[in-house]
Amino acid sequence: MARSGHPWIFADSVKKQNRAGETGELAVIYDRRDRFLAVGLFDPDSPIRVRILHAGQRQLIDNAWFQGKMASAFARRESVFDASTTGYRCINGESDGLPGLVVDRYDDALVLKIYTTAWLPRLRELAPNFDIRGSKFGTVVLRLSRNIQKLAEDRFGFHDGQVLFGQQREGPVIFLENGLRFESDPWRGQKTGFFLDQRDNRHAVRQLGAGRSLLNLFSFSGGFSVAAAAGGASSAVSLDISEHALAAARRNFALNLADANVKLCQHETVRADAFEWLQQSVDREFDIVVVDPPSLARRESERSQAFEAYGRLIAAAIRRLQPGGLLVACSCSAHVKKQEFFDLVRESARKSGRPWEELETTGHAPDHAATFAEGEYLKAIYMRL
Ligand code: SAH
Repeated sequence: MARSGHPWIFADSVKKQNRAGETGELAVIYDRRDRFLAVGLFDPDSPIRVRILHAGQRQLIDNAWFQGKMASAFARRESVFDASTTGYRCINGESDGLPGLVVDRYDDALVLKIYTTAWLPRLRELAPNFDIRGSKFGTVVLRLSRNIQKLAEDRFGFHDGQVLFGQQREGPVIFLENGLRFESDPWRGQKTGFFLDQRDNRHAVRQLGAGRSLLNLFSFSGGFSVAAAAGGASSAVSLDISEHALAAARRNFALNLADANVKLCQHETVRADAFEWLQQSVDREFDIVVVDPPSLARRESERSQAFEAYGRLIAAAIRRLQPGGLLVACSCSAHVKKQEFFDLVRESARKSGRPWEELETTGHAPDHAATFAEGEYLKAIYMRL
């Protein structure tokens, strides 16, 4: 695995270990003939026993090495975004050579999301590196993936949502995405507070929005709705099962009222289960329907269930489209592969009996680029029916 550039070594593929090893230690991997293969972060509590930092030639891994990796990940984003976008991913874990570590920027707040306790013993030492732009970042917040929260607290005294350094503050952070204002809740919100990964799809919907009505299924904080409104959509329905998400969607609209298009757009929030609502509100039709559900297959065993659910959802979404309407169907499940998902949506279009035309498919944005199969999860397909 390590030889082929894969970033993970699973516990069951470790043949021999010269001693027990502690969380966060550097593990050096040798092949059967005792030749150096790679060095990585050791995690005795995870089935992903080692996350590779470096493979190939021997390499000294010290604070300067980490600092270099972080600086180059940050630098790669500098050329991608101008001042109109202040929310983006600075470090995308494995794909930036820093496995299990994600860093997102929201204006002057940085959010560190950690997926392995292996980072925790190093965090205090590495923390100053995250403040790469010095005083520009006011707050650095630590987020912990759910499965490591207890260990992190009990063994290392870190808790989810803790301010690592900088200003202690509460409440949402306002940032810019292509000139639009959004709030993010880095302390408690899903992911790191916002679905930054959908930025390019939101921008595409903005370009398509003029004069159209939008149904935004699984809207979360209304990102697609605000984008369509800014593009001149006449109306937008944000539908989510969470009232908390819909309240944020209303606030995000309010944040952009200085934009004449947003002001003119009629925004409606609907709290409902999308699956049920689609069966019930059969009298409503839209020019654009965005379908962006949460991961319907969180593990391999849920795959067939997920396909069935996507199928039902896409078919029902198509029925809500006006003639000539646009479907934007997204999947964020790594267990459902890109081509499988696109084929499923095409099949739903065929089964609808309506003429259809495929416009585009999209994947990860540059700040979320994935360099290995498991890191690739987001895909979207655009169709006219
Ligand atoms: N499109 C969003 C991200 C969607 S995240 C954006 O661009 O920001 C998925 C959302 O689906 C969450 O807000 C969650 O509350 C919502 N959700 C989960 N199950 C749902 C259901 N059955 N019906 C409606 N919404 C649901």
